[in-house]
Amino acid sequence: MKSVRETVTELCNKTDYEIYFDMLNRDISAHRLTKEKKDEIIKKSMETAVQCYNEVVSKFGELNNPAEYAIRLHIPINYVNEKPNKYYSYVGIFTEKNQTITLNSETIAFIKQLINQFGIADLVDPNQIKSTVTAHELFHYFEFIHPELYTNQKILDAKILGIFKTKSSLLAAGEVAAMHFAKLLTKLHYTPLVYNKIFALGKKQLL
Ligand SMILES: [Zn+2]
Repeated sequence: MKSVRETVTELCNKTDYEIYFDMLNRDISAHRLTKEKKDEIIKKSMETAVQCYNEVVSKFGELNNPAEYAIRLHIPINYVNEKPNKYYSYVGIFTEKNQTITLNSETIAFIKQLINQFGIADLVDPNQIKSTVTAHELFHYFEFIHPELYTNQKILDAKILGIFKTKSSLLAAGEVAAMHFAKLLTKLHYTPLVYNKIFALGKKQLL
């Protein structure tokens, strides 16, 4: 079995394309897509992230921390303390109703603790979790205010009851773009997905 260090090192060394291709393949509704279509979705999702990144940086300049963009955009950041468990947990969420980002301090603290416990603080920065999650949720805010964004479009051909042709959206496209946006905004040299992976590896310890 691979050690945590090996798993994390492997993930840190993957290219953005490899990371996003894996993310897309984990979305069950993307299974029937051709390789060409998947490549197109990844390319356009990454472009969407760059587009939002350029928008925010041209408006406010290069700020030190994603939270500072939230302040400029008048998006409140709330904190909750909900202990993660085996069945349900989240690190952050953007709520459309009141346009708010909520961060779960308990889950953030748990991932930090895991990084120290696994002895991998030399590979991934435990102090970047909060800003990474904030940046990720900021992308969902941009999706909310810009309905025309590619990741909001109905990308998939679907059939209801096998008869009526319709289109449906692809959640993974928005997640790829949010991940890429977070990487751009935080200037991490590894994929932000590594924090999700560490959390997944440590979840066994939870009740
Ligand atoms: Zn997301």
